[in-house]
Amino acid sequence: MNKKYRRCIIAGNWKMNRTPSQVRGFVEELRGAMPASLRGCSVVLCVPATHLHALSSLRSRRIAVGAQNVSEFESGAHTGEISAEMLRDLDVRYCIVGHSERRQDNHETDKMVSAKVCALLDKGITPIICVGETLEQRERELTLEHIAYQVKAALSGLNAEQVRRCVIAYEPVWAIGTGRTATAGQAEEVCYAIREMLRTRYGALISRKVSILYGGSMNGDNCAELLAQPDIDGGLIGGASLRSGEFAKIVAAGCAE
Ligand code: PEP
Repeated sequence: MNKKYRRCIIAGNWKMNRTPSQVRGFVEELRGAMPASLRGCSVVLCVPATHLHALSSLRSRRIAVGAQNVSEFESGAHTGEISAEMLRDLDVRYCIVGHSERRQDNHETDKMVSAKVCALLDKGITPIICVGETLEQRERELTLEHIAYQVKAALSGLNAEQVRRCVIAYEPVWAIGTGRTATAGQAEEVCYAIREMLRTRYGALISRKVSILYGGSMNGDNCAELLAQPDIDGGLIGGASLRSGEFAKIVAAGCAE
């Protein structure tokens, strides 16, 4: 497998942090701290829905607009929901789907994740599909089985061309927001297994092209080793994406790969 077929993606997940009026200042700082040439690496900021307009109106060519959630429905009587079409209208390019916090707090099921992936692809938005095992599953050696189940469920009903347009983020639940990062070896093992699964189901051409990210306490110090792994094509970064200097350091490590 060769990384040159895939795009490196460094995506920040702001979760429920900051305010819309803080977006401009952050982006200015980030722009100033990022390498002059991104060398084909995509930088994405996945901000709360309330911040999307502020981010998209900056019209930055170097920082793509990302959302953190989408409705599985197209339109209609779904109070409080936001559709893929609404996101597209705000120039949203990427959207996180199936984050473990949403699976936990909002009871987001695999079926909902799959419907959301379809809704996004239909509007030309790249889903960043999160999968990951709990600590208990890892300790019981169920990691690869669980990940395979989640990936299959999220991609169910998609054809190979649609799968090619997806991004998968491996995020061990025990590593998110805990400061406990997977070792580069643990992360690579799972990302390789995901790629192998894509190869068996959709062919070598597709599996070679799908970007697979690692997420879980990635920071400026541990990013280089993780991003150097052959099947890790970028990162989904929570806490460290709230600090422009640290996030820029991760971007620089992504560009170096
Ligand atoms: C995340 O929320 O997707 C994440 C990886 O968070 P953190 O980097 O804070 O662990």
